[in-house]
Amino acid sequence: MLRIGLTGGIGSGKSTVAELFAARGVPVIDADVIARELVAPGQPALAAIVAAFGSEILNAEGALDRSRLRERVFSDAKQRLQLEAILHPRIRAEMTTRITTLNAPYVMLVIPLLFEAAQTDMVDRVLVVDVSPEVQRERVAARDALSQQQIEAILTAQLDREHRIERADDVIDNSGDLAALEQQVDTLHRRYLALAKA
Ligand code: ATP
Repeated sequence: MLRIGLTGGIGSGKSTVAELFAARGVPVIDADVIARELVAPGQPALAAIVAAFGSEILNAEGALDRSRLRERVFSDAKQRLQLEAILHPRIRAEMTTRITTLNAPYVMLVIPLLFEAAQTDMVDRVLVVDVSPEVQRERVAARDALSQQQIEAILTAQLDREHRIERADDVIDNSGDLAALEQQVDTLHRRYLALAKA
């Protein structure tokens, strides 16, 4: 089965694009969704995070305080690497397991940190969702309760736009409206079906 890695910076439109592929019957496996499941109360990855970051990383209900964790890792590169060392191998293993259960011409793997976390060997082809940093800031600010400073810290920690595009096999320009996005998804969907058959 052909594996397409879907990536892009924060707020570029990965989830939106993934939904459009899913609506065309393409199975989607999202690394962020898996990451959230892995840190649910009682999961070994949560215990590993508490061991590394202390119990102050939990909220009153004993669940992971995601905004506190985000503050810690985006203000300190060492802690970010520590968190990634806990999560990335587990996410990878879970994705691999899920791929084996599928029966489809191709699968879309949504991996936000595909390049940053050196996950390109997981996929046959890379699809980048591209928008300018200005559009990223706008859409993230409209969607999330993040400060300008937090948004900037995340943008800085991620690979820059030029390098991401340079390493892409296919690029979706998501600076337009949803109709423009759907058109690009349709074109790519046909291309991936053809590639999967070849
Ligand atoms: P993250 O990296 O934070 O997970 P993402 O890359 O998955 O984000 P989305 O959540 O799909 O990005 O999109 C970011 C925001 O921009 C969402 O609120 C989404 O509804 C909106 N959005 C996405 N594409 C467009 C578009 N073409 N026009 C207007 N708004 C859009």
